[in-house]
Amino acid sequence: MKETIDSLAKKVRPDFPLLRREISGRPLVFLDNASTTPKPKAVIDAVVGYYENATANVHRGVHALGEEATRLFDDARREVAGLIGAQPSEIVLVRGTTEAINFVANGLELGPEDEVVFPASEHHANWIPWRVHGKPVPMPIDEDGLPKWDSLEGLITKKTRLVSVGHVSNVTGAIAPVEEIVRIAHAHGVPVLLDAAQSLSHLPLDVQKLGVDFLATSSHKAFGPSGVGILWGRKDFLAKCPLYQVGGGMISLNNDIDVGGFVPRDAPFKFEAGTPAIEATIGFGAAVRYLRQIGLDHIREHDLAMSRYLVEGLADIPGVRVLARKLPPEKRIALATFVVDAPAMTQESVARALSDMFGVCVSAGFHCTHVLHARAKLAGTVRASPHVFNTTEEIDALLEGVREIAG
Ligand code: PMP
Repeated sequence: MKETIDSLAKKVRPDFPLLRREISGRPLVFLDNASTTPKPKAVIDAVVGYYENATANVHRGVHALGEEATRLFDDARREVAGLIGAQPSEIVLVRGTTEAINFVANGLELGPEDEVVFPASEHHANWIPWRVHGKPVPMPIDEDGLPKWDSLEGLITKKTRLVSVGHVSNVTGAIAPVEEIVRIAHAHGVPVLLDAAQSLSHLPLDVQKLGVDFLATSSHKAFGPSGVGILWGRKDFLAKCPLYQVGGGMISLNNDIDVGGFVPRDAPFKFEAGTPAIEATIGFGAAVRYLRQIGLDHIREHDLAMSRYLVEGLADIPGVRVLARKLPPEKRIALATFVVDAPAMTQESVARALSDMFGVCVSAGFHCTHVLHARAKLAGTVRASPHVFNTTEEIDALLEGVREIAG
């Protein structure tokens, strides 16, 4: 197990400049990838390369720099499409998963009686839009925050307009049974949205195989820059989806005689008004190339071994409760959320101590899942989320810190 983890981790570590720094005189142990990932040199170089060599707006400039910037930008859309088995024309560039889900919530033109079914454990990005745009129907979860998937069919009614699920939970790391969910939803004529924020850089993804109707994700959790992500949707939805913002760059004709008479470009450009996040998008393309270079199958191998090492290591410490501890590695990614029973310490102060005393960076609090924490009766949790560059030695540093704090 150690060999599987460390051989890949040691190979890719030099790619990440951030990992060379220290915290409080100790080497940085970065275990907060579910929040955002460090960026490899290839991504940093792509962003700097745009600034240094090709700064120009895209889809506008007729000069050489404009052409170059446009080519780099369009390449990125193609890279992302290729990674998830989609067509570039089905990829709308947005700010991230949150904007992508809001895009669908707006695009479906939901009324107050239109129901959206989703697990109560979802991130607020896949909860609050359904409160605002439609009628939320949260699926029951167990005391560890795992959705009771067998209740799905019973929750679908004639008013259900969408089933919306996180591919991987940002709290338990559990992988949703997507194909089964799609089978049930589609049998009732209901489309499925997949929130792939936590899965894009951990699992091989193919929208055709998964059979989903929408996919939302962010670049920054997949080694790319923040400020960009995608909504993937089928052509027929994108063709009739209403515009939620308008302006420059999305117009093919603006007629000054007929007020209101303008002709938008085809999808995806009609949804991308204004100057986009050019450098972030180019960096996103480089991140996808980087992911493919390592290979998602290799990342998954590291993840499976790491999942076991991390969860078992934490669960063995007296005074530590790991959520979804019994979930086998095949059904989760390498992510562990836990509670440390340390008198007079909040979970946030546990995380602060891990950083200040051991150089270990983890998340703490509610991880944008207030309902999950309320139902599990938890006043906060700590989350360790490794990625492909993390070694067993680093997990040992986390375990040593938690053991000391719990003791
Ligand atoms: N869904 C899940 C499962 C997430 O983990 C996150 C980010 N924590 C989001 C949605 C929101 O992503 P973003 O902040 O990049 O829009």
